[in-house]
Amino acid sequence: MRYVVGMTDGITRRDFLNGTRVALGASLLGPWAELFGAPGADFRLPPDYYPPARTGLRGSHGGAWEVMHARVAGERWSAGAPEEAYDLVVVGAGISGLASAFFYRQAQPDARILLIDNHDDFGGHAKRNEFRVGNGTRIAYGGTESIDTPSAYAEVSQRLLREIGVDTERFYDYYDQSLYDDLGLGYAVAFDGTNFDQRKLVKGYGSVPWQQFAAEAPMSEKARTDLVRAFTAPVDYLSGMSREEKVALLERTSYRAYLRDYVKVDEQVLALYQRWGMSYWCVGMDEVPAIDILYYGDGGDLPGLEHTLTREGGRGSEPYIFHFPDGNASVARLLVRQLIPAALPGSTMEDSVTERLRYGELDRSGAPVRLRLNSTVVNAAHTADEGAVDVTYVRDGRVHTVRAGQCVMACYNSAIPYLCPELPEAQRQGLAYNVKIPLVYTKVAVPHWRWFADEGMRFVFYTNDFYKQVELDYPVSLGEYRFGASPDEPMILHMCHVPMFDEIQGPEQWREGRREMLARPFADFEHHVRDQLDQAIGQAGFDAARDITGITVNRWAHGYSYSPDLLWEPDYATDAARPWVRGRQPFGRISIANSDAGAAATTDSAIKQAYRAVEERLAFA
Ligand SMILES: Cc1cc2nc3c(=O)[nH]c(=O)nc-3n(C[C@H](O)[C@H](O)[C@H](O)COP(=O)(O)OP(=O)(O)OC[C@H]3O[C@@H](n4cnc5c(N)ncnc54)[C@H](O)[C@@H]3O)c2cc1C
Repeated sequence: MRYVVGMTDGITRRDFLNGTRVALGASLLGPWAELFGAPGADFRLPPDYYPPARTGLRGSHGGAWEVMHARVAGERWSAGAPEEAYDLVVVGAGISGLASAFFYRQAQPDARILLIDNHDDFGGHAKRNEFRVGNGTRIAYGGTESIDTPSAYAEVSQRLLREIGVDTERFYDYYDQSLYDDLGLGYAVAFDGTNFDQRKLVKGYGSVPWQQFAAEAPMSEKARTDLVRAFTAPVDYLSGMSREEKVALLERTSYRAYLRDYVKVDEQVLALYQRWGMSYWCVGMDEVPAIDILYYGDGGDLPGLEHTLTREGGRGSEPYIFHFPDGNASVARLLVRQLIPAALPGSTMEDSVTERLRYGELDRSGAPVRLRLNSTVVNAAHTADEGAVDVTYVRDGRVHTVRAGQCVMACYNSAIPYLCPELPEAQRQGLAYNVKIPLVYTKVAVPHWRWFADEGMRFVFYTNDFYKQVELDYPVSLGEYRFGASPDEPMILHMCHVPMFDEIQGPEQWREGRREMLARPFADFEHHVRDQLDQAIGQAGFDAARDITGITVNRWAHGYSYSPDLLWEPDYATDAARPWVRGRQPFGRISIANSDAGAAATTDSAIKQAYRAVEERLAFA
């Protein structure tokens, strides 16, 4: 995912402290776990446990979501007597949960911490996929892709990255920025047969002259002329307006409406762009403010604005290269290395890439930090004397309760009202506001990528198909890991699917998309992989039945955090009025982390919110 503008969250340290003045009861002295004492059962995972190598339906995999959905549907589980006690229990072991544990341990090195996650692997969206291809292992990102524009990260996030060993400058050496250009690989559009005259692949988007591209496109003559004009005519479509007036208009006009009403292009040009931003905004261009297009991608990918308004500020100028082979799963793994060193031996960001994670070390009885997978939290409530929080979770169908001196909810905002029913109603509403956006990252292992090289393509955009795009992997090599830089070497293709419905918008669309995604069998995802790859590279000799060696469907039913940048988002009079700000207030011994709490689908948000949550906990203690 590429990002546009980082969000500032306007919360100060002073706010944290004020928030905690309403906290309940007296703080605990000394490590909470020592007061309670019990080491707890041994939840160790077997030595051969290795989820990154699993293929098929991953992401929200079977077994990860059913308990929480039952909870939402009204099922209750009674808390039992606590079996273990910790100074801090963190619900959710994504980057935000791991960062919460990291910050807390920095301040309280003796603290005993338990992280609980419903998935069979840690990292949340930041997930690692592995494939055996030939004699080697290929690594891919199953979700959270890159450290986008790290210079725009909050100071605390930049510091965390440094402290876990990530030196973003090194990616200038590790990421081959010229590989695909040197091979002459560009962008193609796979036109659909419903909106256009025929289903047709047209290469050279953005690299051949627009007249040439348009001549090949299965469009009417009028649409061709309009497309070329929109890209090439030096027209200010809002002439006579000041910059401020233009910005104001483009903020409240969708890009689709702007193209239609100001650039006045044909319906087929609108159809070409309607789904262009589906993997980023996850809605059609009729919901995306036209102003956002200025800051999308490298700028200039989409027509109509170049001579109307120039880009000012916003995104940093860094290239999109800060990418580990498994994406930000490496950030999660490096955090685990800090918290549970035995789980990931080694000492550098480079050696972490190929080091095999020892899942058996994650949840060792007696260890100061434990990470418990396959466990869905169903309740987190203060004890009657308000001196602790009892966290109840379901694992393998059995109910367990642990007692926590402090608790950080680093899961999803919208889940928290169900997990913490004692929260005030206004806060619960604020949390429920953030409807997570569903999307799928499907990874396809193929023995080589000669077909793409021969066709001169690195990326294909589908105007109206199940997968919105297929692209070659990011060319990054570090440590002992080598990207297959020759077209004759194996490749992991990236395909992105975002459910879209013409008749519904925004949250309603995302909820429906989630339902559809979870009900869809693997065979459907596979069918579309085959069909769409055949369309893209069949003419180059690719045969889906023969050439696909593995498919992993990373199904993120609760994917991106909602960001308040779509057309229908209201203006808020104050920061405190924003639902997610209301939602993230501390409540007694409970604080709320996770990227939703900052209403931004970024690793920066996940880390910043973890820091704030831990500050609240430390101020309370
Ligand atoms: C496909 C995809 C691509 C992305 N690409 C990028 C990118 O390139 N760069 C970027 O900065 N950001 C990207 N993001 C945004 C990403 O969400 C954040 O960067 C970050 O990984 C979020 O971390 P988190 O810990 O806040 O949330 P999550 O990763 O969602 O972690 C929360 C964890 O809590 C668990 N949980 C929820 N409920 C419970 C429960 N009841 N009991 C136990 N556990 C529970 C969840 O299952 C999950 O494992 C992407 C997101 C997606 C989905």
